[in-house]
This record gives sequence, C-alpha cells and structure tokens, in this order.
Amino acid sequence: MTITAIVYRQQFEQRQDPVVNLSQLRLHPREKFFWWRIFGGILPTHEWLSSRHLPPPNPACPWGCSEPEDINHVTSECSFLLDILSALSNWGFFVPRFRSFAEVKLAIATVRKKKGAGLQLYCYAVYQAWRSRNAKKHGRPFGSPTVLAAAILATCKSHSFSSSPEHWGTIQPSWLSSPNSWYPPLWAG
Ligand SMILES: [Zn+2]
Repeated sequence: MTITAIVYRQQFEQRQDPVVNLSQLRLHPREKFFWWRIFGGILPTHEWLSSRHLPPPNPACPWGCSEPEDINHVTSECSFLLDILSALSNWGFFVPRFRSFAEVKLAIATVRKKKGAGLQLYCYAVYQAWRSRNAKKHGRPFGSPTVLAAAILATCKSHSFSSSPEHWGTIQPSWLSSPNSWYPPLWAG
C-alpha cells in the first residue's frame, strides 16, 4: 500500500461515524443505547446538568474523584471505571485505556468487525460504572469493581461470543483452555 493510500485510508477511517460504527462492537441493546446517548451528548453528567441550569448539589464525581464529572471523566478518567478495567486486566484480559473521550470516540469510529473485543469490554465497563454511579446517587446497592468486571465477562460470554468461541479466544487469558469450562474468579469453586 502506498503512503498516499495509507493516509487516505486513515483519514477516511477517522471520518467514520462512531454511532454507526457501534454495530461493529456487537454490544447488548441496553449498552448500545447507553453509548448512543453519550455520542448524542445527552448523558446527564453533573457537568451536563450544570450547563442546563440544573446544577447538582455537589458537582464532583460521586466516587470521590475530586474532579468535575463531565463526559471525559465518565468515559476515561473515573477511578471507579479504572478499578473495573484493572480487575479485567488482572485476570489477563486486554482492555485498552484512553486519556479522553475524544480518544474513546476515535477508537470506536475506527474499530473493525471482529477486532474490537477489548474495546467491547471497555464499553461494557463504562456502562457498568455509570449504572453503579446512578445506584450510589440514589442510595441503591451496587457491586464492587470486581463483581462488575465478572458481570461484564458473563455478559460478553453469553451474548457476543457464544456463536464464535474462536473469537472469544482473542481476549481470553492463556491459562483458560476452553470457553465452555471457564467462569469468572468470583464464581470459581
Ligand atoms: Zn470519578
């Protein structure tokens, strides 16, 4: 491939619509809808509410991050999200990390079919962190980052990878021999 072709291809890829490209990640409908709200700019973060003259009593992140809760924080910086991602990484799963929402958006816009297993886990993690954040704000119970990481893996296994175990192997740790014999550490034994 020529340099011109490579540059053209990169520019073309970067112009892909991340909303359209969400289908490449094969997310569960509720997670897909959640990301659709993010890309539509309608996720009611504290910053979002403040910009619409509906300031929350405390604009900081509910997880005590001491930072304003905006879309960058929710999708890439929040300590609770990072703890979920760390749990997945500690179990041997590759999960990408990003420094901003712009980087997440670009990754989703350029992901290719059957190449986004780690990014899929990432998208599920952001959703679970937000869901738990809402539960915390409203005084409802929520899972620890480890419990949520296990739930994410269970969701991926039952939904996206059930028909293609060879694909599951691309994000499966080497110490797991069979997709049918594995359970998250939470439930082992
Ligand atoms: Zn936070």
